[in-house]
This record gives sequence, structure tokens and C-alpha cells, in this order.
Amino acid sequence: MTYDNGPWGRWREIGDRVFVRRNKTLDVNAGLILGEDHCLVVDTRSSEREGRELYRAVRSVTGLPHVVALTHSHFDHCFGTSVFAEAQPDCEIWAHERCHAELATSGLQQRVEISGFLRESGEEVLADELDAVTITLPNRLVGTDARIDLGGREVVLHHPGRGHTDNDLVVEVPDADVTFLGDLVEQGAPPSFDHAYPLDWAVTLTRLLDRVGRVIVPGHGAVVDVDFLARQRQEIAEVADLARRLPPDLDDTELEWQAGRLAVGAASGLIALRRAQEHLQQLAQLQ
Ligand SMILES: [Zn+2]
Repeated sequence: MTYDNGPWGRWREIGDRVFVRRNKTLDVNAGLILGEDHCLVVDTRSSEREGRELYRAVRSVTGLPHVVALTHSHFDHCFGTSVFAEAQPDCEIWAHERCHAELATSGLQQRVEISGFLRESGEEVLADELDAVTITLPNRLVGTDARIDLGGREVVLHHPGRGHTDNDLVVEVPDADVTFLGDLVEQGAPPSFDHAYPLDWAVTLTRLLDRVGRVIVPGHGAVVDVDFLARQRQEIAEVADLARRLPPDLDDTELEWQAGRLAVGAASGLIALRRAQEHLQQLAQLQ
């Protein structure tokens, strides 16, 4: 099932002192978790203007010093980070270690690509906003697990394996039964495979099925539950199963036809099958 998050741009309390804010741009979610000494902001949106808007929204709820956690290295989840870093010079910014590596090596390239795409689409204002972004690197890095003490409440950061990217980080709030999954799960849009590991993703989600809370916040869209996660896991498993059954030398026309049979849809499925084929070829070369 999915829950109604309420209107865009408003905090909704989805567990004890755990809030989600569904933002109109890209329908991306941001989270806010309150402890007694600190608050934790989950993801910072896609530009400094959007980051500032989110920061003001955080301050409308709490005056507690903030800590930031980034679910992965995609711009729409982390390009507003500099606002939070500048607002509080000792601000801890948590992310997976490969999120740091990805932003350090390719953050600027990602900025150029997205702003170019926006400009081509006639979104000049948004493109200018992207061009102005300062890529801010995380300063607290997670390998597999980390715990953050917010004062009277502990939050767990967990990397469950490769999936939507190689640096997805799950934010767990055990005492509120809430889990933020970033783009490992999406509601209202198909899973995004552009930088994904389609052969590993379903295995990663299987591990998560046993540990997620009753309330699950996807990277985009409405809040969901474990049954929704299980269904999306099944759709992603179907991609991996099909990719393994297909001959390795299919051309794009044949791949497109195959992708059209997938529950994730033809467009996402085609990207997924291409990625899976690349990874299968890399695996074959290793043997
Ligand atoms: Zn993403």
C-alpha cells in the first residue's frame, strides 16, 4: 500500500518525531528526524535554492543543530548540501564512502550533464541554478554501517549492497519503525537504472525486506510499506532473470522488444537490460 504524504512542500509526521517532505521538483522526498540534541536531515534536494528552501522548512520545525545524511550521489538528493554546511560550520555530512568518491571525481561532470539537459529542455532558470551549485563532499563516511546518536535516539545508516547505485545508504529509525530507502525504491515512477546494478539490485532488496520498518520512505513519491517494496523487488528480479536468459549479442531493436515485456516498462527496462548486459560481459571477462 501507499500512504498519502499530503501536499507538496509540507512536512508530514510519519512516525514519532520523524517527518517527510515531498517536494514538487521531481517529486523527491526529504526527511527530518528529531532527537533531543540534534536533528538529522535526509537528503538536501537538487540546487542551493532548493536547499535553502528545505533549510527554512527544517527551521520551521526545530532549532536543533543539524546533521545531514545523503542517500546517494545523484544531484536531486545532494546538490543542496552546501546550504547546510554553510549554515553550521561543524555540520556532519554522512554518506557512503563511494558517494564521496563519486562526487569528488564526477560531481562536476554530473552538474554539467544535468544543466545541459535542462537547458536543452528550455529550463534555463533551473539550468542556471545547477551551474551555480558548489559540490559539497560528505565528511563522515560509511562502509557498511554507522550509528548516529541524536540525543535520546539512535539512527542507523546502512549500506545493503549495490542497487540503484553502488553507494546507496539506508537511514533507519528503529524506535519509530521508519526506514528511508533513497532511490532503492521509487513510488509513482519506475525504478531508475541509469547508474544501477540490475543483477544485484533484487538481492539487495531481499536483504532489506527483513530489516525495514513498517513505514518506508522512497526516494521519490508517496510513503509505502513492505508489500510495496516486495513487489518492486519482484519487478527488478524479473529484469535480472531476463538479462541472464538473453543471448549476449542482441541489438537494440531486439533489446527494446524484450524490454517491452518487463513490468518496469519499456524505457526503464531497456536501460536496465543494457546495463545488465554490460555487467554480464564484465563478469564473463573475469572468468
Ligand atoms: Zn537516484
